[in-house]
Amino acid sequence: MKIKKVILFIIDGMDTVNFTMANTPVMSGWHGKTAVGVAHTEIIGAGTTITPIAHGMMGTGFNIIAHRPGAHTTGRCFDYYGNPVETIGDVAREAGLKTAAVGKNEAAIVLGGLDVLDLSRLEKDGVDTTDDRVMVEETLKVYQQIDQGIIVVTYNAVDFAGHIMSVKRIIDSVERADKMVGEIIKNVNLAETLLVIAADHGTNPLTGNHNTIPTPLCLITEAITGRVNLGIVHNIEIAITICSALNLRKPKQALGRNLLEIALGGKSDLSYREVIDEQLQELYRNQPKRHELALKGEVL
Ligand SMILES: [Zn+2]
Repeated sequence: MKIKKVILFIIDGMDTVNFTMANTPVMSGWHGKTAVGVAHTEIIGAGTTITPIAHGMMGTGFNIIAHRPGAHTTGRCFDYYGNPVETIGDVAREAGLKTAAVGKNEAAIVLGGLDVLDLSRLEKDGVDTTDDRVMVEETLKVYQQIDQGIIVVTYNAVDFAGHIMSVKRIIDSVERADKMVGEIIKNVNLAETLLVIAADHGTNPLTGNHNTIPTPLCLITEAITGRVNLGIVHNIEIAITICSALNLRKPKQALGRNLLEIALGGKSDLSYREVIDEQLQELYRNQPKRHELALKGEVL
């Protein structure tokens, strides 16, 4: 198996409740080649508002501060000390791979910010991020333009339906998302492509607010056979999974397990919580203490 391209398709606001209300044969894996898990999305470490952080964690790992890309920020993630944090985009570009973002501007956060992308077709470029046809078209166009690399796509329709408190539109948008996934897998070479489907958080149509109830996480690629159950996972594990698939080193603050290895029948004796707790302890042991840096005059 030689994966050349990864598409991370983030369906903003699609939690497990919104997902189960809809008819989703493709994401549920009825066609085979799919591993499905239930993902936790809670912030591990620092943070600000939920959507940018949730995107940031998928690209960097723990303890980050992220803001929505816009007039005042590119979407670059920072750590507790105010230093920029390495993302899967930085690691990919360092190895000569291309990085691209499609849809909501937040997609750029996963890859290190608006200014460092090789290609972008985002809301800032005039793309309608709630239009499923436009989004698939743009995604496939970008896919064709890249030989090797990572494409992050963020689709807005489910989240939007949640904010306007329409259960009907949520169901319709999730069903459209499922058709989008069907279109994408029909038009890419699955032997050399890994498609990761995730959501940044849930959006509850009864309150109109975001929440952190679990979200679906699916992996689709040729090497997976049947419908594999990934069990309970955390979205933070997406960074390691993507880097492993592309044979890249992992970003410095990445946490968790390689979910593709689990999907292909590898070891999964430990839960994400056990693995992440152990990795966090190691990171904290090696992390400079803020008061020690202050004494050396390295932080204000
Ligand atoms: Zn939202």
